[in-house]
Amino acid sequence: MITRLALAWLHLLALVVGLAGVWARGRALSDSLRHPEDPRAIRRALVGDTWWGIAALAWIATGLWRLLAGTEKSTSYYVASHAFLLKMSLFLVVFALEIWPMTTLMRWRRKKLQPEPRDVGRIEIISYVQCALVAIIALVAVSMARGYGAGAVAPAAPVVTSASGAIDSVLRVADSVSQAPVVVRATPPPSGTDSVTADDIALITHEMAMPLDSIDPTTLHSSFDDARGGGTRAHHALDIMSPRGTPVHSAAAGRVLKLFKSVDGGLMVYAADSSERFVLMYAHLDRYAPALTDSTRLVRGQVIGFVGSTGNASPNAPHLHFAVARNADVKHWSRGNPIDPLPVLVAARLAARTISLR
Ligand SMILES: [Zn+2]
Repeated sequence: MITRLALAWLHLLALVVGLAGVWARGRALSDSLRHPEDPRAIRRALVGDTWWGIAALAWIATGLWRLLAGTEKSTSYYVASHAFLLKMSLFLVVFALEIWPMTTLMRWRRKKLQPEPRDVGRIEIISYVQCALVAIIALVAVSMARGYGAGAVAPAAPVVTSASGAIDSVLRVADSVSQAPVVVRATPPPSGTDSVTADDIALITHEMAMPLDSIDPTTLHSSFDDARGGGTRAHHALDIMSPRGTPVHSAAAGRVLKLFKSVDGGLMVYAADSSERFVLMYAHLDRYAPALTDSTRLVRGQVIGFVGSTGNASPNAPHLHFAVARNADVKHWSRGNPIDPLPVLVAARLAARTISLR
């Protein structure tokens, strides 16, 4: 943990120092062009170049360490990421651009070669170009950390197939909750089936918790099989009565699939669980949590919205309509094989109690 943070800081520090160094080198060289009689400008350029060199070594060393030791994410995650490949390509361009200035400046240092105005001008321009490229790399790195550009190739994802695997996934979730910022995991491939197995139930039971605070699921009644639409369809969800404005928490870790608005459901959130086998749906929301988007990564317990009565809910009876469906491909978030959330929530509550009693 400490190593991880120290490496991330050193990597960032190297980037800042390098940026300042190469910028200073460019500035000093342009001064030298304007005042060729002043030898101090070239000396300042060499100082900038030294810092640029030190920073580059530190940057490469910390970067390789993080990549190969997998201190942040697995090596396969990096290799599969568009953003990572872009970052590496830009880095290679910066490196290739540096070869000629590096050898030329080395000869200036050893006084084997007097700085020629033509070379000074070229290295000045190269320095500024490198400066811009390093700035772009920093932007790409920030995007990467925010989870953009992930998954060019679907990497080996942790598909949980047993109860013990499910517990591991809970531990991973707990881990990601304790370590802000959120660890972005690669998205598992679609399961291709929406039939529910015992493993699926074990998995979702270990993943889920009540979306509303201070409500004991054992006190709720299932409304899963209730008729809706004048008897034309089944409810296939759980209604949890709660005052307007009560925070709605993500019942599982995963990601938002779609913020949707419909005549019946009002403001809705469709979200995938972390195994991407289930779609969790929250309806009749009064409003969304600020900054929630169609691609927000979710940790369990994160506030996603607030209880309301949008859609066809009675204004006098604000409630959360909570539905869970097994899904062959969560891309089709509105399809899926509905399962009753209530027994799952009750089992999850009992399991959590058992763990806390140990
Ligand atoms: Zn309902």
